Amino acid sequence: MPGYELFGEAERKEVNEVLETGILMRYGFDGSRKGIWKAKELENEISKKLKVRYTQLTTSGTSALTTAMAALGIGAGHEVIMPTFTFVASFESIFSAGAIPVLVDVDDTLTLDPKAVEAAITPNTKAVMPVHMCGAMADMDALKAICEKHNLLLLEDACQSFGASYKGKALGTIGHAGTFSFDFVKTITCAEGGAVVTNDADVYTKCDGYTDHGHDHLGVDRGADQHPFLGYNYRISELHAAVGLAQVRRLDDFLAVQKAHKKILKDAVATIPEVTFRRLPDAAGDSATFLSFFLPTEQTARKAAAAIKAAGIPAFFWFDNNWHYIRQWQHFKQSAVLTPFAAELQQAMEVYKTKEFPASDAIIGRCISTPINLAWTEEETIARAEKLVKAIKDSL
Ligand SMILES: *Cc1c(COP(=O)(O)O)cnc(C)c1O
Repeated sequence: MPGYELFGEAERKEVNEVLETGILMRYGFDGSRKGIWKAKELENEISKKLKVRYTQLTTSGTSALTTAMAALGIGAGHEVIMPTFTFVASFESIFSAGAIPVLVDVDDTLTLDPKAVEAAITPNTKAVMPVHMCGAMADMDALKAICEKHNLLLLEDACQSFGASYKGKALGTIGHAGTFSFDFVKTITCAEGGAVVTNDADVYTKCDGYTDHGHDHLGVDRGADQHPFLGYNYRISELHAAVGLAQVRRLDDFLAVQKAHKKILKDAVATIPEVTFRRLPDAAGDSATFLSFFLPTEQTARKAAAAIKAAGIPAFFWFDNNWHYIRQWQHFKQSAVLTPFAAELQQAMEVYKTKEFPASDAIIGRCISTPINLAWTEEETIARAEKLVKAIKDSL
């Protein structure tokens, strides 16, 4: 699942090239860097690989989301529709823009239910943020149609799904902007890092400046740059970019291994009549980082998850998890942010103190995900599949 499983020579070689120049910063120092520009190279490599016009690297997936929000003009008074099942960074970035997260149900794709999205649109809605969870896609045709009909921005949180696609297009490149994370547990990792991708030149220019104190990067050196708007420091370092560069070049190999391992596990689990699988709007585009499946009830799912763990296999029962599902997001429900809230934002968040999501509960309460690792051999994968099937069957 994470690229760190297969760290090796390629990563060391790229890092050493940076260390030999001594220039760890992605901008400037043109004379001393001996033509080594790892961050720029990685941006070009990602753009080429995903067939997208522009890539802006950042320090994390969270800062990529924050940057995309700013570049798209999302801010105070705006509502952003997002799913109940995601990682906390999705709403953190909406809060940091001063906007209001509007949570809606997920369906059996484990991502936004398009009908729930349409029902949640108000005159204040500015954007829809699908989150491509656990390596695979939301129903992008349906979501894009809704956004076009209502003139909304479509911002894809593809942090968990680098390398996945929908109908031939890389996830992250279908909406107005998309974001990726390269943190330590993601498909491709450089320890900490992220990226915004877009086909829109204006959005890209804003991302480029926003991540570097508003520098326009048009001067001959940093001292000659102008600052057309305010920005922050979300710059990735050359060391991180060097690791990412080696990893991205191995992406196709990683995906092939994941897909092969996932098929072995899925074929085995499919022999259990009580189990059904996550619906994939385009199965061919799955990056196969997880196998996600449903048991008939919350009780059977809870028991199966415990049995799988007892057999030594990691099993995520997201329903009880306080990073990924609204049920345990106490800080979100209490709007416990440190910065002063605009009164209307605070008021808009009141609803979450009591709001229930029975449709999401009926999905996430029955769902288990097990990670697909890269480092397993084929024999290990087959043995694991047998253990997994036995644990589930014995729990029923
Ligand atoms: C990991 C993740 C992020 C944030 O990425 P970081 O690099 O850890 O900041 C955002 N959204 C989702 C869905 C994620 O899984």
